[in-house]
Amino acid sequence: RRQAPITLATRRSLVHTTATAIPKDLRYDVVVIGGGHAGCEAAAAAARTGARTALVTQKLETIGEMSCNPSFGGVGKGILLREVDALGGVAPTICDRAGIHFRVLNRSKGPAVWGPRAQIDRSIYRSEMQQHMASQPNLDLIAAAVEDITVNGDHQVTGVALGNGQIIGTRAVVVTTGTFLRGVINIGAYFTPAGRKGEGPSVGLAQTLETFGFKLGRLRTGTPPRIKKSTVCFDGLLEQPSDYPATPFSYLNERVALEDSFIQCHLTHTNSAAHQLVHDTLHENNHVRQDALGPRYCPSIESKANRHQVWLEPEGLDSDVIYPNGISMTMPEEAQLRFVRSIAGLENAQITQLGYGVSYDFVDPRQLHRTLETKMIHSLFLAGQINGTTGYEEAASQGIIAGINAALKVRGEPSFTVDRTQAYIGVLIDDLVTKGVLEPYRMFTSRAEYRLSLRSDNADTRLTALGHACGAVDEPRFQHFCQQQKELAELTQLLESVELTPHEWNSGGWYNSLRCGLLKPCSVASMMAFGFVSDSTAADLVPALRSFNPRLVERVKIEAMYAHMMNRQRASAESYRRQASLEIPPGFAFEKVHSLPLEALERLREHAPRTIGDAAQIQGITPDALARLVRALQS
Ligand code: FAD
Repeated sequence: RRQAPITLATRRSLVHTTATAIPKDLRYDVVVIGGGHAGCEAAAAAARTGARTALVTQKLETIGEMSCNPSFGGVGKGILLREVDALGGVAPTICDRAGIHFRVLNRSKGPAVWGPRAQIDRSIYRSEMQQHMASQPNLDLIAAAVEDITVNGDHQVTGVALGNGQIIGTRAVVVTTGTFLRGVINIGAYFTPAGRKGEGPSVGLAQTLETFGFKLGRLRTGTPPRIKKSTVCFDGLLEQPSDYPATPFSYLNERVALEDSFIQCHLTHTNSAAHQLVHDTLHENNHVRQDALGPRYCPSIESKANRHQVWLEPEGLDSDVIYPNGISMTMPEEAQLRFVRSIAGLENAQITQLGYGVSYDFVDPRQLHRTLETKMIHSLFLAGQINGTTGYEEAASQGIIAGINAALKVRGEPSFTVDRTQAYIGVLIDDLVTKGVLEPYRMFTSRAEYRLSLRSDNADTRLTALGHACGAVDEPRFQHFCQQQKELAELTQLLESVELTPHEWNSGGWYNSLRCGLLKPCSVASMMAFGFVSDSTAADLVPALRSFNPRLVERVKIEAMYAHMMNRQRASAESYRRQASLEIPPGFAFEKVHSLPLEALERLREHAPRTIGDAAQIQGITPDALARLVRALQS
């Protein structure tokens, strides 16, 4: 469980632990700058896709660092992670090794919006990621800060310059510097230049991007204070156990590694006294008064009102640190302690690290192609928080696309993109490059028009063959995928082929079709999908079912459940395209649109779109908001 040293005896990578040790004539196909979640996926993907790659990052020991919450996945984000896995990505398998509490969120809703999520042991994750990167063939790790990127007269990348002036030659660069570009952290009235607590900002690179002519903006985010676990009183707090057995993130895994050591999370709440304290200290809290916008859907406690949920999440199996999820804050030190101690269970809590905010430069992502290559500089790719997103999963998703494309470009092969109908990754990148961002962008299921088909259960069916065709998915994973697809096809055929009339369902005693109004013959697959017959009843009817993996049985049920709706969704997508030309009269009263979400209302007023097609391009306008607007215009 302890963090492994990066210089592993078994490593296949060359590891340079200081910039001074780097040979003069070092050259790579692809250089990835930054060892966060975007950088790890980008570097591993470029290496898998056949490019000789270097990951250059400030400190090797922070490769795979989780800057904020010790968790991965969730609603929307969990599907992104499964897509990263389907493309051969690294983070999902590592989550399966480091996860200490797994839940599928939204279980009470349809499978299309299920969100696999896991609480992660921070130190195991970091150590497993570092081991993976150190043993990735075709990938070298270099500890250094990149200060500049060199280009030739054709605006083609030629190298990266380190702080000591040394240049590493390369044919493509992927920049994944997260919150580090001119980063400034803030507690109360105090500001310190830093990309993250204890780590210096990246200033030279921000200047380089500016010099190239990129439009930069400023965003901010924050993190809660950490609490000493032994000072928390958990009595009386609601316990939240893990799912057991856990659903792994990776399609390669049947089980997760630490299932026997799962921990509990606990729920507590803020109260009016705590919120009064926030209000009283606003004048000493510079972060919340800045112009830079923060994450609307991961807000700091300063922007929340009254009673609010706080999940107490252990940071690891052997860790004495609790991450209080929901109280990200930048108040002065003494106010943070008073705030924390006003919460039930935390009356005697000690803070191990203060909450803080960070503001940083990002690059307007409308300056990127869908491959995440910049339009201005050839073979320069950007991925992760630098493009205005927030979250590990959003970063990893962009990293894998940028890494694959950097390698393909160097090899002179066609680029690799996915669109909105194929993947949440397609939705994410399409939103970024067409709409840009006004505030840190995070993924939600509501952003995806085709969410009935973009599910967490079928990301491999949607993406693995595509990833294999471009070289990003290795042969063992592809063979595993092909075998599963074969079994899924056999299983579907088996369950669809047994079809009984209402009378037969009834007379066999399997299902009371008369009482439940079943009028037509119905297959075992459909009856299972809608929960009309249990898996064991179905197995009595189709004994061969018992020889199949229960996870595959679940996938067939979900497909059968959505088959009808997906046909409708295709038709609705077609009509949606026709509606794009519908005109919105000047001065239209958007506030009169029934149940329009507040965010959509603000955006529509601000942009005053002339057609539904224009409205669809605005950041924050979801398909649901658009449908409400269309109904209002047509009524
Ligand atoms: P990072 O994970 O930040 O990695 C950047 C990497 O680049 C680092 O390894 C760094 O050392 C390296 N680097 C930077 N500059 C250079 C250089 N010049 N040369 C070499 N290496 C360089 N996300 C949420 O979803 N919700 C939250 O509430 C939230 N709160 C956050 C609070 C804080 C204080 C911070 C710092 C982050 C927060 N995040 C939050 C964001 C989350 O951490 C990021 O979305 C995610 O880590 C982005 O991944 P990334 O790979 O783009 O960048």
